[in-house]
Amino acid sequence: MSTVYNFCAGPAMLPPPVLAKAQAELLDWQGQGVSVMEVSHRGAPFIALAKESEADLRELMNIPDNYHVLFMHGGGRGQFAAVVNNFLGNHGKALYLISGQWSKSAADEAIRLVGESQVDTIEIVSKVNGLNKVTVPDFSVSSEQYRYLHYCPNETVNGIEMFEEIDAPWPVIADMSSTIMSRPVDVSKFGLIYAGAQKNIGPSGLSIVIVRKDLLELPIVNPSSIMDYRIAAQHDSMFNTPPTFAWYLAAEVFKWLKQIGGVAAIEGMNKQKAELLYQCIDHLPFYKNGVDPQNRSRMNVTFQLADEDLNKVFLADAEAQGLVALKGHRIVGGMRASIYNAMPLEGVQKLVDFMTDFAEKHS
Ligand code: PMP
Repeated sequence: MSTVYNFCAGPAMLPPPVLAKAQAELLDWQGQGVSVMEVSHRGAPFIALAKESEADLRELMNIPDNYHVLFMHGGGRGQFAAVVNNFLGNHGKALYLISGQWSKSAADEAIRLVGESQVDTIEIVSKVNGLNKVTVPDFSVSSEQYRYLHYCPNETVNGIEMFEEIDAPWPVIADMSSTIMSRPVDVSKFGLIYAGAQKNIGPSGLSIVIVRKDLLELPIVNPSSIMDYRIAAQHDSMFNTPPTFAWYLAAEVFKWLKQIGGVAAIEGMNKQKAELLYQCIDHLPFYKNGVDPQNRSRMNVTFQLADEDLNKVFLADAEAQGLVALKGHRIVGGMRASIYNAMPLEGVQKLVDFMTDFAEKHS
């Protein structure tokens, strides 16, 4: 067993028991003498896998029956485009709440897709101030007509998380790529939830879409058939060949999560891990994190060294101890420890011990 703890923001570490199972059945899946990658997605074994994985995800997230669950291609960014194509009719307007890098990228994609002549159809409300605190406006009193409100509850790059669901008179669309299944959410508060898989679900190449069925009855612009939610729903996510290996691993991750107690149980563990790391950062003047405590991400803990000249040494020493991929995103610099569902408490404890020793040695 590897002694490396991988803090990569994504593709991120997967639960070791899931990888071990995949390894054991790689050459012979379900007694067929071939791997899961080499069988038809329309054959009975894969259809059974697809059905079971959807049922498991529904159970884990308590997804009501009036929602479709879709397994799609194209990662998070694919959904930036699909959302616009599926919901922004020729005369509609959409509202984008910006709280960091990824919500901004989603808005940029929407602006690109509607084109210059219709740029007014995308409205932007930027709600993260210098203290890295997100203040959500009271949308419930708005008389504006938007097709949807888009936001990103966990900003992977900035380490900013919004824990409260948003109340709005329009369908709320959430990019949950880096927080899905890390804590319970009330799905019924959302029009659509999407997530690229490569953090809490499985390998990249797959994205999950959970969409309220009645929203698919609205008139639409003309999305490509592969990005059309209606077609995906009609074909049980098999209009074209789905990313079968990624789907298989996601199915195993869902089983693993159920086995360890589900989303409520993992939330307890995630809180414990994040508290341990933020306590270390707050107690040692050698480190700082500028995010308001109410918006500190449980999944992506960003921090800076008081002396930035030590960044390279910090990363090299950490790596020598088996603590890898701690470098912050190039846009914000500093460090980032991504501690998704699969990261055990021991990994965070080892990081905290290392950070404590490093601060002592260099203070
Ligand atoms: N949204 C969020 C919140 C992300 O963290 C990422 C990737 N890190 C994306 C979207 C883009 O995902 P992809 O690279 O799969 O397109």
